[in-house]
Amino acid sequence: MMLLNCGQPLPLLRHTDVPPRVTENFILTGYRFPNYTLRDCLLSAFRPTNETGNFWTHFLPVFIFLYYFVEVFGWEGAPHSDAPFFYPLWNYFIGVFCLLMASSMAHLLNSMSLVVREVCFFVDYGTISAYTVGSSLAYYYYIHPRAGIAVTGEHNGSLMDLKHEAAPAPMSSYAIPEFNMFFETFYIPSACVVAIICVLSCCNTRQQWRQHRYIIRTLVFLLPFLISSTPVFYRLLTTSPYSTTSSSFTASTAMSTFFYRHCLWLLVSAVFNISKLPERLAPGRFDIWGHSHQWFHCCTFLSILDELHMIKTEVRAILLSSTLLLPPATLSRLPGPTIGSTYGVMFLLQSTIVSIIAWFSWCASCIYGPQIDQLAKEHPKKYLKCH
Ligand SMILES: [Zn+2]
Repeated sequence: MMLLNCGQPLPLLRHTDVPPRVTENFILTGYRFPNYTLRDCLLSAFRPTNETGNFWTHFLPVFIFLYYFVEVFGWEGAPHSDAPFFYPLWNYFIGVFCLLMASSMAHLLNSMSLVVREVCFFVDYGTISAYTVGSSLAYYYYIHPRAGIAVTGEHNGSLMDLKHEAAPAPMSSYAIPEFNMFFETFYIPSACVVAIICVLSCCNTRQQWRQHRYIIRTLVFLLPFLISSTPVFYRLLTTSPYSTTSSSFTASTAMSTFFYRHCLWLLVSAVFNISKLPERLAPGRFDIWGHSHQWFHCCTFLSILDELHMIKTEVRAILLSSTLLLPPATLSRLPGPTIGSTYGVMFLLQSTIVSIIAWFSWCASCIYGPQIDQLAKEHPKKYLKCH
């Protein structure tokens, strides 16, 4: 248990007792001291504060996600888990894992100091952006190439035939040829650029534009969703690349349902994030359990889970279509995944995001570093633990 030097458990604070930056709208009690030690922070996971629910609603999902994720490697016909075929899937895993871990740890550790609190939120925004690029890599290799093989064939039959037909004029295999250039050249780079713009804008809402921060953050994350989902939109607008009698076709029919559910959960999570329901209706009633941020976490996780199911559906369809898989590079005109085109992209992006976070953290330490010393001097009783 958390004990003071003088032997008493640390009390939780009211919204009027913490610095204004730390307060959340309509949350009145359950605030932790803004100068917890690392140990106090970690232990507060097991104590009802207004961050406890926020921690668990993104920490437990890590294990649920893992459970559904590893199933893929046991499927019949699946290559070994370290085969190039699975590079994009692992990058998707990295994106989701970092998102959930960073988010839960940010909620747990953000009461160490005002500066740490800022850094926690910057890391949170950074991992959300990296996650969208992880999704894009998975969409690009598992959903998009199927879009590329589709459609020109009147017979929907042998993929070999389609390939030969398509060979002289590579663009003909796209149902909507204008998309050829976009997918093959701009899709991944634009996902990366948009991710970086998002990190920059969201970090900035913590220093400027604070009044409309929830709306800006929500809108800013709509853009990467729209960009990274283009392969799915494409698939929904065109016909399936698989022969209607094939098992791949049957396997991939569930894809659209999972995608619509993924969108629905995203929409509901945005509603919670902007509306601040239910605590808006009864300020103080949902301080510890049931406030909007916890519902927001649950909905974002459900949307990730449906996205995982969607990606798995497409992976399964490819695995069932042996001509596509073996050998991977010969039938697709697109280059297969390589270390550089998957892990390399992710590494470059993460490095850029880390640099942005370092820059904003340095700015935050210049702004809030002196401020907390000031607060400690003004309110020694509130901010010093014991004498
Ligand atoms: Zn959160």
